[in-house]
Amino acid sequence: MIYIFCAPSGSGKSTMVKHLLTMHPDLFELSVSCTTRAPRGQEVHGKEYYFISVEEFQKRIENNDFIEYEQVYDGLYYGTLKQEIDRIEAAGRQVLFDVDVKGGINLKKILGDKATSIFICPPSIEELRRRLEGRGDTSPEMIEKRLAKAEYELSFKPQFDRIVINDDLTNAFKQLDAIIDTTTK
Ligand code: ADP
Ligand code: 5GP
Repeated sequence: MIYIFCAPSGSGKSTMVKHLLTMHPDLFELSVSCTTRAPRGQEVHGKEYYFISVEEFQKRIENNDFIEYEQVYDGLYYGTLKQEIDRIEAAGRQVLFDVDVKGGINLKKILGDKATSIFICPPSIEELRRRLEGRGDTSPEMIEKRLAKAEYELSFKPQFDRIVINDDLTNAFKQLDAIIDTTTK
């Protein structure tokens, strides 16, 4: 089973993915996407993302290297490489995707029953702002852009296989563990 994690930025996707990777390091691996944004904080090329130029991203589009890609924010491209699924499955692990809402819906359409799509829902927009501000690695301008997009993204929630409400963290992990227990093949 492949798991697709989607949510408005700051809802806790990375936190959920990290939980699964920590609990089951031999079972899951995160697909590393390409992005044209600059690394934040301690991010490392090849770990969180492949950080590439717009020119290189365009070349990869032309080469048909992406299973899906989006201009997630103005001028910033993010894309999932086809080779990531092959790389992770060849290593005997299950793929985790952390992608934006549109990308997640596209991936689910392509992967069908091979994938479970999970929407991580924030308790409120106000809490989302607090979390983005608290994370301390995103500029005030980017925070406003991400919040403006969040309401729109929340409207896609019904299109997902499962929903996790990330209010209390322990409770959210429990919801996620139950989903994994009932869907892992
Ligand atoms: P995303 O990957 O969706 O952008 P993150 O996982 O980075 O979101 O979470 C955003 C911030 O909120 C991080 O600082 C994270 O530690 C914090 N956070 C995540 N879940 C919770 C929660 N249930 N309660 C409080 N803070 C949380
Ligand atoms: P961030 O800049 O915070 O790492 O990510 C911004 C958004 O881009 C997040 O919603 C993240 O899930 C999404 N994203 C990351 N990789 C991809 C990808 O390969 N495809 C798509 N469509 N979205 C992605």
